[in-house]
Amino acid sequence: MPYQANDKQRAILSDESLRMAENDVRQMNLTAARSVGTMVRTTLGPWGMDKLLVDSDGNVVITNDGVTLIEEMNITHPTAKLIADVASTQETAVGDGTTSAVVLASELIAASEDLLDRGIHPTTIVSGYQRAAAIARKKLVEVAIPVASDTTLEQVATTAMTGSGGERDTELLAETIAKAVRTATRDDGIVDHSAIDVRTFSGGSVGNSRFIHGVLVDKDPPHPAMPTSISDASVLVYEGGIEISETERNNGVAVDGFDDVSTFVRREQTELSGAIDRIVDTGTDVVLAGEGIDEDAQQQLATAGILALRRTSDEDRARVAAVTGATRINTLDTASSDDLGTAGRIEQQTIRQHVHTGNAPPEQTFVFDDGENREHATVLLRGGTIHVLDEVERVVESSIRAVSAAVEDDAILPGGGSTDIALSLAVRDAASAVNGREQLAVEAFANALEARPRTLAETAGYSVIDALIELRTHHDAGERVGLAVGSEMPTDTLAAGVVEPRRVTEIMIKTAVETATMILRIDDGIFARDLSDGDTD
Ligand code: ADP
Ligand code: MG
Repeated sequence: MPYQANDKQRAILSDESLRMAENDVRQMNLTAARSVGTMVRTTLGPWGMDKLLVDSDGNVVITNDGVTLIEEMNITHPTAKLIADVASTQETAVGDGTTSAVVLASELIAASEDLLDRGIHPTTIVSGYQRAAAIARKKLVEVAIPVASDTTLEQVATTAMTGSGGERDTELLAETIAKAVRTATRDDGIVDHSAIDVRTFSGGSVGNSRFIHGVLVDKDPPHPAMPTSISDASVLVYEGGIEISETERNNGVAVDGFDDVSTFVRREQTELSGAIDRIVDTGTDVVLAGEGIDEDAQQQLATAGILALRRTSDEDRARVAAVTGATRINTLDTASSDDLGTAGRIEQQTIRQHVHTGNAPPEQTFVFDDGENREHATVLLRGGTIHVLDEVERVVESSIRAVSAAVEDDAILPGGGSTDIALSLAVRDAASAVNGREQLAVEAFANALEARPRTLAETAGYSVIDALIELRTHHDAGERVGLAVGSEMPTDTLAAGVVEPRRVTEIMIKTAVETATMILRIDDGIFARDLSDGDTD
């Protein structure tokens, strides 16, 4: 428990500062860290339970997603926050395995409480954990399987989406995600995430979501005579507008008398025509403008057969420039054909007709595709409400990252607890060769690795002890089995399509061990304020 600082400490700490004795601080940290894992554990996997949360504004959230849960729990305890960070580290690194990483970290911490009680020094525990992690990592590389086909990628996408609340039209989304990741895979095998856009358009249902090869520019042509479908288009990306500048019109030049006004207007119009002439001279077929395009200019551009899209967003211009190879120019004065990019195909596609009723025309969107510079994928998500869309978007973005990890590493593993059992057995085997008390830490690590299959078995309604014995027995016999939705336990989860990128488990082990180590190494706590005050932010 906290005690007031003594005289010597008071010399450097403020009066309110509290210190804790070594064992107290460690105990408190371990308990806090373990409890986060205990809370999220039963949300793990496809049979995971939901949690009901009431946030600080009184909103009710029901979720079975570990990260959402941790975010919404509003954790204030400093050490518990370290565990919560495990989730965000994992999410950032691979987009999946967040609950798993938190659960493993928490298991390692729970096990170390036991080991400490048995008089084993924290340093010994840390080195045992690190040794065990190295064994597990080596085994992971041995047991990983290369990605066989796009079907495998769809399975990876589906597994990643499981348990995060987005289980709607999973098949369609998985197919879309796999296509997008394939499209954005560069020749060197790295997935270029800037070449994938996830766009959300409300209306319709999730089942109307689809993959679009190319960049979406959600703009209508301002003039009806402009072309709406162009092949081998030369594309100009201009940051400004094609208009008589607002400032001049509103408060710029002082004019006396009618003659001056008409001279002024004429001069402006000449300038505008000059700008359009320069656009035409470059050989432009399509221009994206960042600002407005005056009606006169629209007319002239339409007459010249040019499609001009006005007030395009910064993202639109960035994407189109990246795909077509166009240079984003700030002035038309020096525009030349060198600034142009090329798109093999630009066309208007109907996307939003579901939202319209009656005789309203369907809204349309331009698709820029076959750019000379690189390929681009758009995942178009539809959903009835913003809430649904937000959730689907989050799930899809995570799944894209998981599929990318599978592609980049060309390494996948059977899920549903199968790989965890294999790793656990490998670590347990190696433990006998470890001398001294460190062996106990290595064994504890092997047990902690079984947390996922244990939890899956528990939530699926099996007797945990029997299930684990059965799984281990099969693995000992060389059968890689685990649990899969819709199959009897034990089952070959790879064949059942429950597959994960190797990176998910790799990062899970890495983050969990790092965090457990960090917490175990703390032997002193200095608190500038009383923890029971509540918020520590
Ligand atoms: P995390 O946040 O760690 O990804 P999840 O709730 O997504 O947590 O659960 C992940 C676990 O669920 C993994 O062990 C994974 O292999 C398993 N899993 C996913 N889909 C299935 C399935 N269809 N059948 C059995 N296990 C599954
Ligand atoms: Mg998951």
